[in-house]
Formats: sequence, structure tokens, C-alpha cells
Amino acid sequence: MQIKNPISNIKKLDVIIFAAHPDDAEINCGGTILSLTAVGKNVGIVDLTLGELSTRGNLKLRKKETDTASELLKLSFRTNLKISDGNIEINKINKEKIIRVIREYRPKIVFAPYPHDRHPDHINASNLIRESFFYSGLSKIKTGNLESYRPKNIYYYRNAVDIPISFIFDISKTFQKKLEVLKCYRSQFYNSDSKEPQTFISSKLFDNEVEARARHFGFKIGVEFGEPYYSHNAIKVNDESLFKI
Ligand SMILES: [Zn+2]
Repeated sequence: MQIKNPISNIKKLDVIIFAAHPDDAEINCGGTILSLTAVGKNVGIVDLTLGELSTRGNLKLRKKETDTASELLKLSFRTNLKISDGNIEINKINKEKIIRVIREYRPKIVFAPYPHDRHPDHINASNLIRESFFYSGLSKIKTGNLESYRPKNIYYYRNAVDIPISFIFDISKTFQKKLEVLKCYRSQFYNSDSKEPQTFISSKLFDNEVEARARHFGFKIGVEFGEPYYSHNAIKVNDESLFKI
């Protein structure tokens, strides 16, 4: 299976954000992505499902919303693996889909949802990505002419449930732009004109929480807004970087 959906001609990425549903990456890592692309890093998003079980909106509308958000984020690449929404299985076919995208775009780092959450898709996606990340480095697992490759680390992002924190990314400069990106997903988030059923993320309360959450994590590191991440692996510091944390 060929995975081709480049937004630019870039062949290698600095970062891939894996997400169970279109808009997960924006909600949880939007400020981080904007900060990285602002300094010229090549960032891609790989959505595992089309979000076909979403209560609000439809696939055509969601695709349009995702394309607009991708432009604002200045992504180098975005693709959708079209795994079944509500049924993200850890099987050979799904692992190969993820291994292929890692081997083709060779990101230095990948991001994934933290493996404990209220939504089972986020938990299953997390475990699927973690396994594929490991197996991508084994040369005896063949994927045509794509060579084995394992990124340096996986950083796990928070969804609806608090996570242990390894570091918090300062998104003070990009938080307002993150709100603009979230507004691209008009069918999913709070919209007083919408007649569609209310969901966990479409209520005014969730809208408030996006800002409260960013302020909460920002406060922990002495800045206005932040996004938290967890790493299973210890993070290296040295005499210079010690003073930056
Ligand atoms: Zn999701």
C-alpha cells in the first residue's frame, strides 16, 4: 500500500504526530505543532481513522475542516490510514500501515496519545503506535524497498485524562493561533448556531477547558500557556540543557 499525501515536496520529517481521529492532534498538540513549524521544522500528522463514528458533521465536511486546519498549521504532510473508527485493532495490517509511514518519512520523533484515556480508540491507537514504532526498527520485517528505521522517542500527549508529565511545551506564543486552528473544525466544537446533538467536545464547557487546561500547564512551568507530554524513556540533559529546564 502506498501512502502518499504530501503537502510539500519534503521527503523526511522532523516530527510525526499520530492521532486516532482528525482533530485530536490539533486539540492536544496544536500549540506545539505551530511552534515547531514556525521555526522551520517539518511536521506531519497521520490520522488513523476518518472519524466516521463522529456524532456531528459528515466525512465530506470533516475532510474540508481538516484540510483548512492543516494549512494553518503549515504541515509538510498529512495522511489518513483509514483504519475503522471504533475498531482500532492491533493486527498485522494496521501495524504495517504505521511501519510504512515511519520508514518512508523517517521522523526524528513521533507523538502518540497516552495509553490511558476515556476513549478506547485513543488507548488502542497508543498501543498500536508503540508496537509499530518498535517493529519499524527490525530489519527482518520487510516492507518492500523501505529500510528499517526507528525514531529516537515517542512523546505521549494528554487527551481527556491527566497523565504523568515528563515535560511541558511552552505554547504561549502560539496559543491564540491554536484557537484559530480549532475553529476550523466548526462541526465538532462549540458553535451556538449548530442544531446537532451535543458531544463531549462540542459543549461550551469543553471550549472553556481548552483555555483552562493550557493555562494550568503553562502555570506549572511559569509561562502563560503549555501542553504536557510523557516519555517512557528518560530524557537526556547535560550541563547546558540542565539550566534550560
Ligand atoms: Zn479522538
